[in-house]
Amino acid sequence: MWDKGWRERVWSQLDQEWDILIIGGGITGAGILRQATHAGLRVLLVEAHDFASGTSSRSSKLVHGGMRYLKNAQFKLTLESVSEREYLVRQGRGLVNRLGFLYASLRGDKMPRFVFGAGLILYDLMARQWSHRAYDTLDLRELCPPLTTPALTGGYRYFDAQTDDARLVLRLIREAVEAGGVALNYARVEHLLKTQQGQVCGAVVRDTSGESMREIEVRARLVINATGVWSDALRVALERAPRLRPLRGSHLVLPWARLPLTRAVTFLHPRDGRPVFALPWEGVVIFGTTDVDHPSELHTDPAISADEFDYLLTALQHVFPQQELTANDVLATFSGVRPVVNTGKADPSKESREHAIWEEDGLLTVCGGKLTTFRLMARDALRAARKQLGHIEFDPRRPMLNPVPETLDALTDVRLSAAQRLRLLGRYGADATRLFDADVRAELTPIASTPYLWAELRHAARAEGVVHLDDLLLRRVRIGLLLPNGGLEWMPRVRAIVQAELGWDDARWEREVQTYTQLWRRAYSFQ
Ligand SMILES: Cc1cc2nc3c(=O)[nH]c(=O)nc-3n(C[C@H](O)[C@H](O)[C@H](O)COP(=O)(O)OP(=O)(O)OC[C@H]3O[C@@H](n4cnc5c(N)ncnc54)[C@H](O)[C@@H]3O)c2cc1C
Repeated sequence: MWDKGWRERVWSQLDQEWDILIIGGGITGAGILRQATHAGLRVLLVEAHDFASGTSSRSSKLVHGGMRYLKNAQFKLTLESVSEREYLVRQGRGLVNRLGFLYASLRGDKMPRFVFGAGLILYDLMARQWSHRAYDTLDLRELCPPLTTPALTGGYRYFDAQTDDARLVLRLIREAVEAGGVALNYARVEHLLKTQQGQVCGAVVRDTSGESMREIEVRARLVINATGVWSDALRVALERAPRLRPLRGSHLVLPWARLPLTRAVTFLHPRDGRPVFALPWEGVVIFGTTDVDHPSELHTDPAISADEFDYLLTALQHVFPQQELTANDVLATFSGVRPVVNTGKADPSKESREHAIWEEDGLLTVCGGKLTTFRLMARDALRAARKQLGHIEFDPRRPMLNPVPETLDALTDVRLSAAQRLRLLGRYGADATRLFDADVRAELTPIASTPYLWAELRHAARAEGVVHLDDLLLRRVRIGLLLPNGGLEWMPRVRAIVQAELGWDDARWEREVQTYTQLWRRAYSFQ
């Protein structure tokens, strides 16, 4: 599908009338593309950079009800999110996995422990399963030995779920493309086209891959703005007032050996009482997040500030004192910007995370929401699309992800654990078989300490729409987040694979490494 020459083929097809043009290749756009393809519509998705390169690769990677939304009395959002979590755990085997959480209650907490317990009762009732339990201090330490803070007063165990956000987006897009949709990365909408009556009817799309300067007018019966935190840019061009409040959230990534957690741990930050999370993920621990207004330029990659770094590290040192964590333990950092609808709340964390749909001059903007609720956003978008497209035949209950077979024949003679097979099936769906092609089999070995396999890296370079090195190392196989120095030590082997698969000459390789290294230093580390 994304084999050699695919970009040329897609560019040559753009010049036709589409039913829907989706602008933005994050989770929102990917979900709408999937749902609209199910409905048999001719749909094109264009993404200015790489798929999921916006907020959708920078989340905390939770598929969750959101206990903290209960605290803000956002009951509808929590109920919907809990139900989506259950749906995705069932549908996304190997990609969306249940994760145990421990809530550590600390002396001096702004919220009494029983309030969290009451929230958990509601949470379990919403999921129709009783899975939380209270623990005293000793039991909690037994479950989580690094939890050595003398301030611990007990807590709870409960469950949510976790995913790989960028891979979830990619799987949705790939399966939609298999089913007839069209998706193109490195294709930016420069401006919208309007009819004489002033209705949006298409867009001018420019190639941003660096390989060509081409531009094309794309016409569609409906244009959907799924550009997340960038949504206002397209809306303002229609002379509409901005409605979003960009809120940055940052994370630290630590080696698992320095904070060996088998479950996630959450607690209230001693400074301001906000819930923060330490999450085991892909062999590391992610700790986050912050919630601050993001005044910076939206066209540069967001990066953690000194204050956020200090805020997060202080919390870790407070709760896990015997780990003696310092700034030197931090492998990487990453930051994302939430596309939150502005209601003018003084405290950013009190802004609602519900999604919104606005129809303005024929442009449908779908924004806000969460990774977890992408299916609901897609469903609501298609319902709203009926106004312009007329009746659309779609079944919102139809699975968003193609079912993954219990076992794939091709996997049976390969020496991988059951967990590794399931992981591959979850990430690649039916494409997992391609990892076992004769010339790739020998590379079914892990990349350093990560759960990623060299075979995945080759497959991604060969058939997953990679244009630049950061697409490969930060979003397809995420070693840029998991290895010291963004994985620079492993570049010679990466180079051998990438140059062979992507046909990059030495000069291109050098340029790509330089750009990747600069990006990593600026936005994924802390100096
Ligand atoms: C720190 C943080 C933690 C989070 N944690 C969670 C979590 O654990 N669980 C959860 O459910 N949710 C979480 N979220 C929320 C979730 O990540 C976002 O709601 C979601 O990713 C937004 O997706 P999106 O597709 O709307 O936006 P994006 O992913 O930003 O996608 C928009 C895309 O549009 C593209 N674009 C912009 N302008 C143009 C143009 N002119 N032409 C073409 N393309 C364009 C951008 O390049 C971008 O890729 C978190 C968010 C943050 C910031």
